[in-house]
Amino acid sequence: MKAIRVHEFGGPEVMNGEEVQEPKPGAGQVLITVHAAGVNPVDCYIRSGLYPLKPQLPFTPGMDAAGVVESVGEGVTRVKAGDRVYVAGTVSGSYAEKTSCVEARVFRLPQKVSFAQGAGLGVPYGAAYRALFHRAQAVPGEIVLVHGASGGVGIAAVQLARAAGLHVIGTSGTERGSLLVSEQGAHHVFDHHATGYREQILEVTGGNGVDVILEMLANVNLGKDLSILAPNGRVVIIGSRGTAEVDPRDAMRRDAAILGMVLMNASERDIFSIHAALGAGLENGTLDPVVGKEMPLSEAARAHHEIMDSSAYGKIVLIP
Ligand code: NAP
Repeated sequence: MKAIRVHEFGGPEVMNGEEVQEPKPGAGQVLITVHAAGVNPVDCYIRSGLYPLKPQLPFTPGMDAAGVVESVGEGVTRVKAGDRVYVAGTVSGSYAEKTSCVEARVFRLPQKVSFAQGAGLGVPYGAAYRALFHRAQAVPGEIVLVHGASGGVGIAAVQLARAAGLHVIGTSGTERGSLLVSEQGAHHVFDHHATGYREQILEVTGGNGVDVILEMLANVNLGKDLSILAPNGRVVIIGSRGTAEVDPRDAMRRDAAILGMVLMNASERDIFSIHAALGAGLENGTLDPVVGKEMPLSEAARAHHEIMDSSAYGKIVLIP
């Protein structure tokens, strides 16, 4: 089968298409024919070799995919050959024509959800759900600011928060992104590059501030975030690409909490619960992943350039 392989850590160009042996599903594993593979920023960090998680070389990148079960290993009971599924984590890598996964990371994909949409569920929706409900413990009626709402995690967070009865404020850096965030259900959208957007956020909260902030770029925003939190507010750091300076008094005077979140720290029980909730949202239509761009699998390097350099207005997915 064809797969994208990485033989040395480095820039996007270290990824090349190769013929490799098809994976065989071991006990408790599932072999899936990949119809679409999701591209996430974390795939780029891992490929670069700068991420704490360093796979053994050579490896096939990718955690997210959707496709059809081809065969199952001994002891697998939840899915069978022919089922439409999406995966949240693989054993053999998702940038390939086939991928093997442990059964606990394979979930049914409803008929109305396309494979390209399914490839955008695992990391983005998993991270958004865990940040919003497991870490921030957001409850209906609270106000959430999705700081960076136009990307993969942000769109997921807006849909999840809106469906749960939260009041949703989103930010984007472009007009097209703002329109997209608004279409996903945000009650208000502001431009995170505009001066004065924090004042606008305070204004729409009646001066009280927001209860929860899901932060995609903490190195740029964390210091400012603390100043627009309501009493007992929580900031969940989902993304950061550097260091930040904060005034601790901003947190003290609000009894505020700054919470870190890495999806890979989620327990198997949490993952099971997250995907049970996502499955319900896909079934009832409140969750509807947005595909920004489909590219051939062979263009994985271009996909990595694009996800790091520009707005995709939805998920970038690779089609084998
Ligand atoms: P993405 O699709 O590339 O989206 C990036 C988002 O960041 C866009 O909405 C972009 O908005 C926004 N952004 C750009 N400048 C910003 C600013 N100054 N302030 C606020 N937002 C800004 O990436 P993603 O998949 O959504 O991931 C977002 C971040 O979370 C990445 O750093 C990723 O590594 C991280 N992440 C972490 C976890 C975890 O487990 N902790 C899981 C998934 C992702 P515009 O393009 O509209 O400006």
